[in-house]
Amino acid sequence: MVKPAYEIATLPGDGIGPEVVEAAVAVLDAAVGTRGFSLKWQTFDAGAGMFRRTGVVIAPETMAAVGEADAILLGAMGLPDVRTANGTEAAPQLDIRERYQLFASLRPARLFDGVEGVLRRGDVDMLVIRETTEGLFAGRHEPPGDDPDSASNVLTITRATSEKLFELAFAQARLRRAAGHPGKVTLLDKSNVLHSFAFFRSVFDDVAARHPDVESERLYVDAASMLMVLDPGRFDVIVTENQFGDIVSELAAGISGGIGLAPSADVGEGHAVFQPCHGSAPDLVGRGLANPVATILSGAMLLEWLSDRHEDPRAADAATELRAAVAEVLAAGPRTPDLGGSATTDEVTRAIIAALPRS
Ligand code: ATP
Repeated sequence: MVKPAYEIATLPGDGIGPEVVEAAVAVLDAAVGTRGFSLKWQTFDAGAGMFRRTGVVIAPETMAAVGEADAILLGAMGLPDVRTANGTEAAPQLDIRERYQLFASLRPARLFDGVEGVLRRGDVDMLVIRETTEGLFAGRHEPPGDDPDSASNVLTITRATSEKLFELAFAQARLRRAAGHPGKVTLLDKSNVLHSFAFFRSVFDDVAARHPDVESERLYVDAASMLMVLDPGRFDVIVTENQFGDIVSELAAGISGGIGLAPSADVGEGHAVFQPCHGSAPDLVGRGLANPVATILSGAMLLEWLSDRHEDPRAADAATELRAAVAEVLAAGPRTPDLGGSATTDEVTRAIIAALPRS
């Protein structure tokens, strides 16, 4: 059901997180404009900075409150000099994924006009879907073990999560086909070596059989990684396990203009977190050098998700206009230094707002 105001929880986090979230909030408010609904923002503390001050990465009340919101916008979490007791980075986004069963991360990678791709090999326009609650990362809670000379982690694949993941991939392929893309799903695995991946592939085959109208293929992740560089245009929707997806989605970001442009949506059945793929980039903090586009495009995904869940075409219209404004600014400038420009975060943000039709 449509709402007059959608509650959005923001977790700006560490490093450049607060700078890019501030930019995205300004652009989203401008894109929503006077369409008859608004975004009601509520900001929460979490991450490495909070851990350093309090010893906690996310407060239990914050974890509960973000679950009440209509959507969550996250900046970046973690600082290189802050480590939790087991030596890993403070990563409340992983805790949120697990708490709210956000089983898939949607990571579009598109080479926009005006952005110089490193490959110079034509179109890159794909969606990487990374499983986010199991796979090799499910082992992050395993105790380290007693043997000082070895370490291992279990890789977990379940039928229930894999089916949901693959159904989502085929649904996304259909949506993309309706928008003029090929609508093909490619599974990446390592089923020639690990039986867990042979099982993953068999579940994929079962789901693919339910969608005979959507083209599908299966590739080994190593061969596919080379193909992503040599012939990225052959990929449309890629779906894969957690750790493979972590790596392959950064590869996709790298061939489509870099990490400053790569958005993501971590989705479950009832909740979703939208965030840039990049980290907290401590080297850029406070210098106006952060590219805000990845977070702004994550905001467009947030609007689309609200539109789907609430059958609210106003939010989808705002997302379409926002994407067009981003494309216009990437084509004509101004651009931040990571894209060869000399504009600040703020100048790019203001240019995107100015390119919106209603501003
Ligand atoms: P994480 O592991 O948390 O993803 P990371 O260590 O891989 O983080 P990032 O924080 O993503 O690293 O940053 C890597 C480098 O990429 C930064 O040092 C910075 O130079 C560049 N970078 C990251 N985000 C942006 C951005 N929004 N705009 C411009 N450059 C960026």
